[in-house]
Amino acid sequence: MRELRTEPDHRDARGVLEESVWSHVLIVRASGVARHRPTIDSVPLPSLDDLLATLRVVRLPLNTKFRGVTYREVAIIDGPCGTGEFAPFIEYGPAEASRWLGAAIEAAYAGWPPPVRDRVPVNATVPAVSAAEVPAVIARYDGCRTAKVKVAEAGQSLTDDLARVAAVREVMGRDAKVRVDANGGWSVDDALAALGRLSAFDLEYAEQPCASVEELASLRMSLARNGIDLPVAADESIRKADDPLRVARLGAADIAVVKVAPMGGVRPALTVAQQAGLPVVVSSALDTSVGMAAGVALAAALPRLEHACGLGTIELFEGDVVTDSLVPQGGSLPVIRPEVDPALVARWAAPTDRADWWRERVRAAYPIWKATVRNGS
Ligand SMILES: [Mg+2]
Repeated sequence: MRELRTEPDHRDARGVLEESVWSHVLIVRASGVARHRPTIDSVPLPSLDDLLATLRVVRLPLNTKFRGVTYREVAIIDGPCGTGEFAPFIEYGPAEASRWLGAAIEAAYAGWPPPVRDRVPVNATVPAVSAAEVPAVIARYDGCRTAKVKVAEAGQSLTDDLARVAAVREVMGRDAKVRVDANGGWSVDDALAALGRLSAFDLEYAEQPCASVEELASLRMSLARNGIDLPVAADESIRKADDPLRVARLGAADIAVVKVAPMGGVRPALTVAQQAGLPVVVSSALDTSVGMAAGVALAAALPRLEHACGLGTIELFEGDVVTDSLVPQGGSLPVIRPEVDPALVARWAAPTDRADWWRERVRAAYPIWKATVRNGS
């Protein structure tokens, strides 16, 4: 047993972490935590047959091309606590997919820790568009006072980045927060040169300016040496790493971008956030409102939330599996868990051969998930 370290304003979530078959999802004992949820200790580990019995697969249209296709396939499962989303990207192998399965199982069979806030501020996202297109992109996000701007796009130049960021700053005004995301596209030298220029627009932070953890650490030193006061956020270095805490140990970032599904659930993500000791920005992974609700639950449960979260992405979908989609209003999302609408699941049902493919995927990921649960890792 380990004590769950809690913040003074996080009193409701105080509990004892139990080492058990459920330790992978770091179940907080339900006693005194959440009267409205079943006692988690009493929830048995779901079998593969349990998961397959409720599994449904949808194919949702997107309004923009993503990884070469204009749809997103998602599997959903039901359990005593609600619906969970299993949607690792198509090319992921069983080991990586098993973490996403853990997040879906947590959502359906364990539920989430109680929230400490009832709304989560979200950011607008500006892709690598021309400066002229920026006002129309920003206008899609009702009331957002933070924008994340894509930079370092392949085939574009620093001049394009400067023009785009300038346009965002002009449209949003001096009091808005503007962050840039390079998705690891710069070398340390390129990042230093680019961020030296871009920091004239008073940036909130630079997300994943370089690809490796070592480069991020080196860049932070160079920024400091050059008097450029600009925080660095790590995204891919946490999401795709075997050891997400390496970023914090090497002093490679000031801020951690955390996504629920790649971490294996809300509780493992909370643990990473706590152990990293860095401010966290919760982000989505092209989730439907079912998966998004898990991101919202993580953002709502964090003891401190200092930055707008990247959870304003539901509008990339032309369809959803819930009627009340998690669409930002007034710059934030409500901390709610929308109910799945069976009519929408039927409407967007994936072709049978694709549904079979997803069932095989669950079959392949399940034993890996179960083994990590047993090992408590
Ligand atoms: Mg990112």
